[in-house]
Amino acid sequence: MTQRKIVVVDTTLRDGEQTAGVVFSNHEKLRIAKLLDELGVHQIEAGIPVMGGDEQEAVRAICKAGLKASIMGWNRPVIRDIEASLACGVDAVAISISTSDIHIKYKLKATREWVLENLVRAVEFAKKEGLYVSANAEDASRSDMDFLIQFARAAKEAGADRLRYCDTVGIMEPFTTYERIKTLIEATGIDVEMHMHNDFGLATANTLAGVRAGANYVGVTVIGLGERAGNAALEEVVMGLKYLYGIDLNFKTEMFRELAEYVSRASGRPLPVCKPIVGSNMFRHESGIHADGALKHPGTYEAFQPEEVGLERQIVIGKHSGTAALRAKFAEYGIHLTKHQAEELLPAVRAAAVDLKRSLFDKELMYIYEDFFGKRGHVG
Ligand code: MN
Repeated sequence: MTQRKIVVVDTTLRDGEQTAGVVFSNHEKLRIAKLLDELGVHQIEAGIPVMGGDEQEAVRAICKAGLKASIMGWNRPVIRDIEASLACGVDAVAISISTSDIHIKYKLKATREWVLENLVRAVEFAKKEGLYVSANAEDASRSDMDFLIQFARAAKEAGADRLRYCDTVGIMEPFTTYERIKTLIEATGIDVEMHMHNDFGLATANTLAGVRAGANYVGVTVIGLGERAGNAALEEVVMGLKYLYGIDLNFKTEMFRELAEYVSRASGRPLPVCKPIVGSNMFRHESGIHADGALKHPGTYEAFQPEEVGLERQIVIGKHSGTAALRAKFAEYGIHLTKHQAEELLPAVRAAAVDLKRSLFDKELMYIYEDFFGKRGHVG
């Protein structure tokens, strides 16, 4: 596993912006693309060129920015979509069409044969133009496996470079994901990209399950932005690959927090404190046992170092604090409490936190100290 070459495809600018209520300005799109490129992302799905207007201009600007990453445009299996992508200067296209019967019958009002014909025509056209091609099987997870295999073979024969396995409604779980991806790869030998949605909170788990089954491409978005509950989060998948599978992509992961904050602001989606990998609570310890452990050796209560993702370790003083944390906190202010003093102070600290229903600020701790010991302390 550790020798696997995994390619990261970020679709923050396409699926991420498709999130209901999210619009990036072109300036923001270019900035996000540059940050993704600097981070180490291999391919950036930049938008949908056939939409024209600002969308097309943004894709064109990203193509001209001289990034190392491959730039991909999203397309229906329609020649004029691909022509619009070409006009923007992308080197890669995603050609997307539904493969599930429910989509084919109710959305496309077509047949499986129609799907295959349109896919092949579009892929052949794009390949003739020298583009890298991902054949996207929309709603792959609800597609009949035999037809999905037929679709993958047709895509491969037409020249497609990979298949994007889309869990469009986010209904996969890791064990079924593993089985289906393994079956698909064994039957066709095609390269597979995982594109998983998070409706049941399993997008990252399913992405990793797909990698274990042999998928070499992972489709992600910053902070998991995307349709409905979003996509697999870039930062979760990259850190998961590194720490759970031992696959180090050598990304500049110390940029994760900064990138998350930027995309959060640009999308108007607040970053939850408990967000995996980049949330501000990731390296905050309050409970006495945890804070004591983390102070003695961070590895006791942390999966990796905060600096690795651009965060800092914080010991928070509150209801669950113990004497070790209290002594460490006061030492930051230059006050060295004895163990006995810390024990004396602790009940007052806990009572204040219960009253306020939160952890305490530095100043509040200092007031408690002053009230208790009758002398002034200085913060800082
Ligand atoms: Mn999607």
